[in-house]
Amino acid sequence: MIQTIRGFRDILPEDTPLWQAIESCASKLFENFGFKEIRIPIMEKTELFARSIGETTDIVEKEMYTFPDRKGDKLTLRPEATASVVRAFIQHSMGASDSVQKLYTIGPMFRRERPQKGRYRQFYQINAEVFGIASPYIDAQLILILNELFKRLGLSELEAHINSLGCKECRPNFQKELLTFLQDKKEQLCENCLRRMDKNPLRTLDCKVPDCREALKDAPSTLNHLCSGCQDHFETVKSVLTEQGVDFIVDKTLVRGLDYYSKTTFEILTTALGAQSAVAGGGRYDALIKELGGDETYGIGFAIGLDRLAEIVAQMINSNAQEDAKAQTSKAHFLELMHSNSPDIFIIPLGDKAIRLAYMWTSALNIAGIKTETDYSGRSLKSLMKRADKLNAQYVLIAGDKEIEDNALVLRNMGTKEQYFVTTDNPVEQVETLLNRV
Ligand code: ATP
Ligand code: MG
Repeated sequence: MIQTIRGFRDILPEDTPLWQAIESCASKLFENFGFKEIRIPIMEKTELFARSIGETTDIVEKEMYTFPDRKGDKLTLRPEATASVVRAFIQHSMGASDSVQKLYTIGPMFRRERPQKGRYRQFYQINAEVFGIASPYIDAQLILILNELFKRLGLSELEAHINSLGCKECRPNFQKELLTFLQDKKEQLCENCLRRMDKNPLRTLDCKVPDCREALKDAPSTLNHLCSGCQDHFETVKSVLTEQGVDFIVDKTLVRGLDYYSKTTFEILTTALGAQSAVAGGGRYDALIKELGGDETYGIGFAIGLDRLAEIVAQMINSNAQEDAKAQTSKAHFLELMHSNSPDIFIIPLGDKAIRLAYMWTSALNIAGIKTETDYSGRSLKSLMKRADKLNAQYVLIAGDKEIEDNALVLRNMGTKEQYFVTTDNPVEQVETLLNRV
């Protein structure tokens, strides 16, 4: 049997209602804040990612799916969305029509990592990007939006970590000091860090190797080297979040795995998924647009890991922990969404004539927006009642040859067991009226 590729997976129909609910919750929230959706290709020229994410990052060095197409062009399945959104912004001169652009996109990303719970080779992200705003208010607003989304999804155990990486004014000084610090720790660093150290000393701060972590725990922090502009910017972000009641932790070790960030960076962490703790991450990238060939334009964005988010929402729904009223409401809301696919009506046809009618009515009711199912197998009343139960149908409509002859079909509410009679002439109208009345 042919199976999925390692690290790739199907999201099965029992899970898609949850995914859809999260996606629609996010897109509604984005639209409230003035974001518009953009859809971008899943494949780009390799150079786009190499130049934006950075040659010495894990993603570019070892995680990308890159291959030559039939004519030898080097192509890559996108490992993240920001580079593509920036490319689209430049390619379509979007800044010329409106200097402020707020965009979001939802879709699959590809990284060849070691698969485990919460880590896949094809995974999904919800992405938001804002172009053309220098103000720290927008940094705070993006973190507020993430906070609000998680609140709406009923998640409370999340932690926002924030840091500032400085800008092209203050970062060189910091890098020099970090390099001096690293020179002294050379014996303790892994091969990767040693190799990247000179080109990109900041990468060492993101290394997950325990010995490196230990060696770097007293490493200098960008926060002590910010220029006054970056300092003020960061102070505003923090004070705005505090005033809005968004909790955060300043985390001086947060540098993120992509090279393009400057000033504010942030990550939302969870303890619910074991080692895979980041649910979302983002930051400011004021130099990236020019770097990729556009005009100098401010940029900031974030990416939410949808697979991980769906997993923790599912855990919340399935947990039996003591809950307050709000948690119960979000849970009920999700359960409703997840059952929204059960039919309103299951038509039980008994006899050949009835099967043909059941087919006609099912089609007409579905077109009219009343979710209806039936069965063409000619099975008994008892076995079809079982099937209606299994599908969680709200009503059954029993149509035996006899009922048709008597012009009195039975519509039964499966919950209350109440029964109504429906004649065979315009069942759709009658059912619509009955369903609206009860
Ligand atoms: P991690 O440190 O867990 O590898 P990352 O910093 O590489 O995450 P980003 O590039 O910031 O991740 O992507 C944003 C979000 O996308 C992450 O916070 C995470 O939720 C999700 N994500 C990243 N890689 C994967 C993956 N391989 N499988 C599932 N989700 C992922
Ligand atoms: Mg990663």
